[in-house]
Amino acid sequence: MIAPLICAVLAVFAAIAPVAHAQSPAALELARKVPIADVHMHLTRGQPASWYVAQMDRNGVRWGGGVGGGPRDAPLDIGRALGGRHITALGQTEFFGVFFAQGTAGLVDDAHPIFQRLFAQAQSAFANGQARGFGELHINNMSPFSPAGTQRRIPLDSPVVNRMFAIANRHGGFVQIHTMKANGLDEILIMAARYPRVRVILSHCLPGASPEDIAFLFTRRPNIFCELSAQGPTHGVQRVFTPEGLRPAWRDVIVAHPTRFMVGTDPCCGHEGRYDQLIREARELLLAYLPPAVIPRVAYQNAVRELRLK
Ligand SMILES: [Zn+2]
Repeated sequence: MIAPLICAVLAVFAAIAPVAHAQSPAALELARKVPIADVHMHLTRGQPASWYVAQMDRNGVRWGGGVGGGPRDAPLDIGRALGGRHITALGQTEFFGVFFAQGTAGLVDDAHPIFQRLFAQAQSAFANGQARGFGELHINNMSPFSPAGTQRRIPLDSPVVNRMFAIANRHGGFVQIHTMKANGLDEILIMAARYPRVRVILSHCLPGASPEDIAFLFTRRPNIFCELSAQGPTHGVQRVFTPEGLRPAWRDVIVAHPTRFMVGTDPCCGHEGRYDQLIREARELLLAYLPPAVIPRVAYQNAVRELRLK
């Protein structure tokens, strides 16, 4: 009778055990010290370059950016000041500016003077190595996690976005898009195929998508990637990781596709002062739950290779 009793006790323990795989001490130690490339580090109005350097240095973040923010030319200004440590991305401030002025009709008007200026600026910035990509482009952010006044839904396969993909494709750059599964997986596959030299980075790993959806996209196209910002407790989301660690289904898809995931923080929208906390949770609740061989890939090696960081 003792053996069944032990089995029953073990079964109860299994049922109430934390959802995540246990960390190994070696994985935790590596996760706490591995360099990080933060591919979703916004710029904030008014902060000087030294502020970003300090924020990155005290958190072991070697490279940061991948998205814009701040005044219109801030990405190029900060990029010049930070040199190779900034992953300079254009277009976010323009995309927001046109949306606030003209709504979604403006976002599909590639003759708009603000976009014409952006395309010209981008052609030269990509050619001389000052910029690496476009982003964060909000295509579909109709979710309670996006501030109410910013929500919109447009097709990914639309004129302005196609112009950005075409420029990035010419230079082997990236386009980081914030869209949702609700827009359909097809339009992502179509754009990734039409612009095969573009690294398509899905902000927040495509809200609404399951790990199976992500595996499907990765299997169909070699140039689609996920960044994992705003997926944990600080943003109140807990889709990919929780205070108990990385969810097993997400761990499985990361381990199955270890070259496709990158770290991001998304210090925006009320989280600007929480950068240290965001990096700590990325290290301790996300990276620490991965096999040690996968940790450096997700932490920085995938970004270094795909975004040609130095
Ligand atoms: Zn963002």
